[in-house]
Amino acid sequence: MNIDSLISQRAQQIQPSPIRKFFDLANATAGTVSLGIGEPDFVTPWHIRDAAMASLRAGETAYTPNAGTMELREAVAEYLYARFGLSYDPKTEIFITVGASEALDLATRVLLNPGDEMLVPDPSYVSYAPGAVLAGGRSVSLPTYAEDGFALRGDVLKAAITDKSKALILPYPNNPTGGIMTRPQLEELAKVLEGTNLPVISDEIYGELTYSGDHASFAQIPGMKERTILISGFSKAFAMTGWRLGFAAGDRRFIAPMLKIHQYVIMCASTMSQAAATEALRGYISGDFDDVQKMRKAYDERRRYIYQRLNNMGLSCFEPRGAFYIFPCIRSTGLSSEAFAESLLKEEKVAVVPGNAFGPSGEGFVRCSYAASMKNITEAMDRMERFVKRHR
Ligand code: PLP
Repeated sequence: MNIDSLISQRAQQIQPSPIRKFFDLANATAGTVSLGIGEPDFVTPWHIRDAAMASLRAGETAYTPNAGTMELREAVAEYLYARFGLSYDPKTEIFITVGASEALDLATRVLLNPGDEMLVPDPSYVSYAPGAVLAGGRSVSLPTYAEDGFALRGDVLKAAITDKSKALILPYPNNPTGGIMTRPQLEELAKVLEGTNLPVISDEIYGELTYSGDHASFAQIPGMKERTILISGFSKAFAMTGWRLGFAAGDRRFIAPMLKIHQYVIMCASTMSQAAATEALRGYISGDFDDVQKMRKAYDERRRYIYQRLNNMGLSCFEPRGAFYIFPCIRSTGLSSEAFAESLLKEEKVAVVPGNAFGPSGEGFVRCSYAASMKNITEAMDRMERFVKRHR
């Protein structure tokens, strides 16, 4: 059988994640210190784990409603109101997904027709562009620049909009740059979008992890809520990556078709994970637990340290304001992003991710995650400093 010929063109068109490829290399190298991982190094707080165990003990092992338990949807609605002053109806405007990942896939699929274009700030998270291809469309890169803190500029957005543009992704706080968008910057984008029929998929998975000023949701910008599908989840803020739980909130005319696909493809998110996530949000909203604040404080200490070390060794970098990534410029070494990452791994056993894995504008940079222990970050910085000295 010629199985290769059976694989759809869409599936063939997308490439395995360049990040994975790099991790396989790093995992095969004994003694590697990794700054490559994009997930919290904390374990989910106990009270959240206990809630999942209580749910299991109570025998809650069946499917939940397709959209998720009403308790969790109500908790999400309360959270969005408490945090951003945004009102969503938990019955029709919020549903629970398998991570922000599923919500991103669904939003892309309900918006794109074959040939349509999704506008994606560059560099950004690796799954947006393949998601557009799998939906039959394609992604268009909107370059962002270190001198703008990697925020998307209004003029760049304006120049990119064509008849084929069908959606804009707003991935802030940003993976891999650590850039955020301030309210005035979001307002500038809103001005460009006013009068267009372009919806916004706002990926706010790192919304709880900002270090200077607060994260503003695009849906908070006057006039923008109707066109915004707000996507977030539990993976990053609550250290719950393995629980696979996220949510989407938006106008019911977006949510209903997303839910239709979710019903067929997923049925519902994991029942025990939903019990855990309800506890996570309740604890956060009530102020009874300060896990999020504690983890944010730890990331912030590491952020300050790594920022200083990288700049001191001559790798200039923009001070990240959100998520847990830093994106130093490595051009002073004369190496490409990939050559830098590969040689650093080979020579000093430190894993970072080449910036071009996140789009062409990431060339000349590497992504370091500071969701790692201070001990590992210190060791990685010592090794990297030696490496940079040799390659100057
Ligand atoms: N969006 C961004 C920007 C991410 O970095 C990630 C994971 O790294 C995701 C979405 C996926 O998150 P989840 O674990 O909720 O699927």
